[in-house]
Amino acid sequence: MLIDYRSDTVTRPTPAMKEAMHAAAVGDDVFGEDPSVNSLEEKAARMFGMEAGLFCPSGTMTNQIAIKVHTVPGDEVICDCTAHIYQYEGGGIAANSGASVKLLNGYRGLITAEMVAEGINSFDDVHKARTSLVALENTSNRGGGSCYDMEDIEAIRSLCDTNGLALHLDGARLFNALVAREQDPTDYGRLFHSISICLSKGLGSPVGSVLLGSEAFIKKARRVRKLMGGGMRQAGSLAAAGSYALDYHIQRLAQDHYHANKLAEILGYQSFVGGILPVETNILIFEVVQPYTPQSFVATLKEHGILAFAISPTQVRLVTHLDISEAMIEKTIEVFEHL
Ligand SMILES: *Cc1c(COP(=O)(O)O)cnc(C)c1O
Repeated sequence: MLIDYRSDTVTRPTPAMKEAMHAAAVGDDVFGEDPSVNSLEEKAARMFGMEAGLFCPSGTMTNQIAIKVHTVPGDEVICDCTAHIYQYEGGGIAANSGASVKLLNGYRGLITAEMVAEGINSFDDVHKARTSLVALENTSNRGGGSCYDMEDIEAIRSLCDTNGLALHLDGARLFNALVAREQDPTDYGRLFHSISICLSKGLGSPVGSVLLGSEAFIKKARRVRKLMGGGMRQAGSLAAAGSYALDYHIQRLAQDHYHANKLAEILGYQSFVGGILPVETNILIFEVVQPYTPQSFVATLKEHGILAFAISPTQVRLVTHLDISEAMIEKTIEVFEHL
C-alpha cells in the first residue's frame, strides 16, 4: 500500500467516475458540438453565477488564457510572490502575454487591498508599465492551503473597479476554500472577472480545468485556447469526469481537511518537527529539524511506503485527497510516532 501525499493531482478516477466517462456522449468540441463538454461548461458557469465556461486541458492553460485576454503586451500583472501563475507556469506571463509582473509579499500567499494599492502604477507616469490585472490564488498552494476572507476579496475588487483593473482568480483549489469556509460560489462569480477552477486536483478528475467569465470574455478565451493548441476534439469523456466530480466530489473535501488536521496534530508532538503552517484545508506544510533534513525525512518516509515532497530547504509538504483513506492516515500516524 503506497500512501501518496505528494499532491492531490495523483488521484485516479473512481469506478463510478469511469462509468460516467464511458457513457459520455461526444462530438467535436472545436466545432462546439461536444454535448458533454457543453454541459460541463454550463454546469460550472451556473454554479458560480457566471455567464460562460471554457473547458481546457490544464489549470496552467486556463490561467494563461485569462492573463492573455485581460492584458496587452507591456502591461503589468499584480500577484503574490508565491503565486502559481508566476512561479510554476514556465514564465508563461512573459512568454504568452508579453506582460511583466509586480510581486507582492503577502501573508501565506494572500494579499490585501492595501498591498495591491501600493503595487498599482500610476497610469499618468509614462515610465511605468500599465497595471491592468490583479490575480489572486485561493486556496494558496505555497501558503499551505490558506483561504481568503470574503471581505478582503471585496476590498480588492472595489480597488480594481476604482482603477479600471481586471480581477482574476486562480481557483485550482477553490472548492477546498468553499467547503472549509462554507462560502457561496456565486459570491466568487460576482467578485471576479474570471475564475479558473481545476477538476484534476482535489475533485479527483483525471484531466481538465474550466475557465469562467462573461460571454464576451469566454468568446475571446476560446480564440486564445485554439491559438495555444488547447482546442480538443471528442473531449466529452474527460468533461463527463469533471461533471461527475462537480456533482459528487465537492462535499467530501471536508474529509481531506479532517485528515490533514489529524496529521498536523500528531506532527505537532514530534521532536523532529519545527513550525507547522496552520492547516485550513488539505495542504500541510511543516519544518523538519534534527535529526532530519527535509530530504532525509522524505527518504525515510519512502522506506515506509509514504510519499511526500521536500518543498524548500527546510519544509516538507503533505497533501490529502480522494485516494487517501482513513486506514492510510492511521498507518501514517503510526509511522510518525515511531520515527
Ligand atoms: C495545480 C495548480 C494549477 C494548475 O496546474 P496544472 O497542473 O496546469 O493543471 C494552478 N494553480 C495552482 C495554485 C495549482 O496548485
